[in-house]
Amino acid sequence: MLIVMKSGSTREDVDRVRDVIQGLGYESQALPVAERLAVRVSEYAREPSCELFETLPGVDLVLPISHPVRKVGRLARSEDTVLRFGSREVGSGGFTLVAGPCAVENEEQILAVARSVRDAGADMLRGGAYKPRTSPYDFQGLGEEGLKLLALARKETGLPVITEAVDEASVELAEEYADVIQIGARNMQNFALLKRVGRSRRPLLLKRGMSATLEDLLLSAEYLLDAGNPNVILCERGIRSFSDHSRYTLDLSIVPVLERLTHLPVFVDPSHASGHRSSVAPLARAAMVAGADGVMIEVHPDPSLALCDGPQSLRPEEFAALAASLKSLAPFMAEQRETVP
Ligand code: PEP
Ligand code: MN
Repeated sequence: MLIVMKSGSTREDVDRVRDVIQGLGYESQALPVAERLAVRVSEYAREPSCELFETLPGVDLVLPISHPVRKVGRLARSEDTVLRFGSREVGSGGFTLVAGPCAVENEEQILAVARSVRDAGADMLRGGAYKPRTSPYDFQGLGEEGLKLLALARKETGLPVITEAVDEASVELAEEYADVIQIGARNMQNFALLKRVGRSRRPLLLKRGMSATLEDLLLSAEYLLDAGNPNVILCERGIRSFSDHSRYTLDLSIVPVLERLTHLPVFVDPSHASGHRSSVAPLARAAMVAGADGVMIEVHPDPSLALCDGPQSLRPEEFAALAASLKSLAPFMAEQRETVP
């Protein structure tokens, strides 16, 4: 836990916080965070409740993390980070709809999906050309050919494209053909890859690892900003839990916490989280209600023939219905957030 002091806090204020920590049987350490002073509670496993410190004089923020996030935290930047793609904005208060197939399979498939999601109101097209598959015998993606097809779909529809890179070579190619480079859940802590894409000029979408804590995710994003790339979107995509009714468990509770702690846009991927087509629309709406800046939805012209993730892919008409539902919910939710933040 990090207890961040106000800029004008006094020596007594800091000592008081440290006395409370000591009284609870923990050790503390004072350290600078973004030109402010913070007190770190040096006990990892069990931590005291945040409320014990929030009302003490001189205390500004109590963060449920133990490593300072110097660049992704709100202390570094209070305004939201906004990414711009032509006239489209991500993170400026609107709701971004990203849609497309799990994998680019062929020209006919990607163009059909791209046209249908554009007509339904999607803001961006997704599609994997490098697929990190659990089994080496499953379809691994078309590689550069897939990226060329994505670029063709962008030319045809005007939609910016998001695609995953998995290593140095695929980052270089994705930089050439795509608008946003995705780092997948399995690579969230591939620190060499994070440093490489952190040096990229392309915006990034960082998916939460399936066993990553809030702090793990923030620190991975910190690698990207620290390497010089300020244009990062975070994406919750479900975590492993004991539940077996869905592929992963969508952790919507991380959305308001991320919105409070960081200035980066936060997306939700209900497709990979649920693994079931029938859960995608309710979870996408729930993501909007929870305050996410956008969702990423898998769509396939014929999910029964999909080479990857068919059971969770929406048919084009199902995506169109979801997009319409989200568009009508958006103004109502914006108004609600004004009333009860
Ligand atoms: C994907 O978006 O295609 C993907 C593989 O997602 P994740 O990394 O979240 O599993
Ligand atoms: Mn997929």
